[in-house]
Amino acid sequence: MMSEKPYRVLLYYFYNDIENAEDYADEHLQFCKDLGLKGRILIADEGINGTVSGTVEQTKSYMDYMENDERFKGIVFKIDEEEEHAFKKMHVRYRPELVTLRLEDDVNPLELTGNYLSPKEFYEAMKEENTVVIDARNDYEFDLGHFKGAIRPDIRNFRDLPDWVRENKEQLKGKKVLTYCTGGVRCEKFSGWLKREGFDDVSQLHGGIVTYGKDPEVKGELWDGKLYVFDQRISVPVNQVDPVIVGKDHFDGTPCERYVNCGNPECNKQILVSEENEHFYMRGCSDECRVHPRNRYIEEHQLTEEEVEEKLRKIEVRKAEKDNTQHA
Ligand SMILES: [Zn+2]
Repeated sequence: MMSEKPYRVLLYYFYNDIENAEDYADEHLQFCKDLGLKGRILIADEGINGTVSGTVEQTKSYMDYMENDERFKGIVFKIDEEEEHAFKKMHVRYRPELVTLRLEDDVNPLELTGNYLSPKEFYEAMKEENTVVIDARNDYEFDLGHFKGAIRPDIRNFRDLPDWVRENKEQLKGKKVLTYCTGGVRCEKFSGWLKREGFDDVSQLHGGIVTYGKDPEVKGELWDGKLYVFDQRISVPVNQVDPVIVGKDHFDGTPCERYVNCGNPECNKQILVSEENEHFYMRGCSDECRVHPRNRYIEEHQLTEEEVEEKLRKIEVRKAEKDNTQHA
């Protein structure tokens, strides 16, 4: 079946030693720019992790180039069809590690990692008794969508995951541990770390949620909500069988899948919020953020002091109403 959409978004990673990775990052950036791709790529001494968008032609040239590079033999691309670019610019950055777990002693997934489960195997394993499913992503990613019954580690950053596990060991002891993330790159390392921590039965979703959603057999079943992605699309669907919304509006808790950054640039927290509530609360996640002197919402809408006062007054009225109904 030929597709009609003119653009492709690629998501991929590959763990392998890269010599002179810093120089290679510069070279790779030039190559991507010459091709006309846009996106974000990390190159580390331990491999590559990227997501790029381009036309069918451009992305095909890129995949051919990567597949023909000895260092990336066996690389797998997850491909989404889109109507346009998913990024504005092309960035390639060098980092010492692909994903940061802030470990005293880093894990090399080429030497130690959890069992790889196909989407079907993962689906079956989730239903087994004595299984715990850990979401290896950040809290705001979880809040938009996750596997039914998965544990939500209360972390803002991936690097905080080891501490969280150590503090919550009891929940995982003696269980079959399953982990998953967007495309699989974080679980390669996280599942290896879990094994080193002494958990024997650790498995990871091979290819991540993206692959799970495209799998012709499982069709994303047992996934609730949407998948958070790190490009302009912000979210993509996963469950093709019985999709539901799990995201909740930051202010009133109604179903919501719309993310914005808090208007206070010093906070910048991602919150789920309807367009209506964004205007009502001036995009501030808290009372403090709303009246922050650099609130971007106030700037963008060029609100006068009187207009801000008026909005704050309405917010107070609504709060009082809410308190009344709660105590009635
Ligand atoms: Zn805020």
